[in-house]
Amino acid sequence: MKYILDVHCHSVASGHAYSTITENINYAKNIGLKLIAITDHAPKMPGSCTNLHFLNLNILPKKVDDLEILTGVELNILDINGKVDLPNSILKSLDLKIASLHPPCIAPSDNINDNTEAVINTMKNPLVNIIGHLGDPRYPINIDKIVKASLETNTLIEINNSSLSPNNTRSGGKNTILEILNTCKKLNVPIILGSDAHYHTYIGNFDNIIPLLNKCNFPEELIVNTSIEKFKNFYLNIL
Ligand SMILES: [Zn+2]
Ligand SMILES: [Zn+2]
Repeated sequence: MKYILDVHCHSVASGHAYSTITENINYAKNIGLKLIAITDHAPKMPGSCTNLHFLNLNILPKKVDDLEILTGVELNILDINGKVDLPNSILKSLDLKIASLHPPCIAPSDNINDNTEAVINTMKNPLVNIIGHLGDPRYPINIDKIVKASLETNTLIEINNSSLSPNNTRSGGKNTILEILNTCKKLNVPIILGSDAHYHTYIGNFDNIIPLLNKCNFPEELIVNTSIEKFKNFYLNIL
């Protein structure tokens, strides 16, 4: 398998996902992944779990056979200042933190400057590792500024497989995602692919992204999913 890690997947704890952490782990192991992160939605997402869920994640095994397991969260960006919805004390206890824009937690806006500022201010938080599903048409952004900030803040931009599904609430962002890829390629900025699985059989599935990578001839060395070492180089806190 070319892509050996997927660090964006949800469990029943998110409230609108349908597999347990154990089902996610077993599936990832069976398809040959070497690393996954469990990234359930942070508490401000309606129906998701409380702070206690994240506090107790350290009881999970770090490894099951040869699959490495990271604890994590998908935070909600709450405002233009990049405020997120878990206290730093809990964030520090987790291996991997994604932060994303979600309509129930920050109103969609066609103000490019506000959206860009919200994302860049979140990137400046050293406890945030990845910005999830950029290219959502409900939140237009200044791609150049965000790609440059990704490099400056060591925060990875995620290219999200679910965003490219026709029935996803974020669909319609294909051209923006292509533009993000082309800008990352031009500026030599690494990216991470995420499945955003809400059911275990979607874990490790990047089928919607691959045609876009091919279309812009995206360099493989800039995709961190191909090697655990390459991926971990971005996250000194989990080495
Ligand atoms: Zn999300
Ligand atoms: Zn997600």
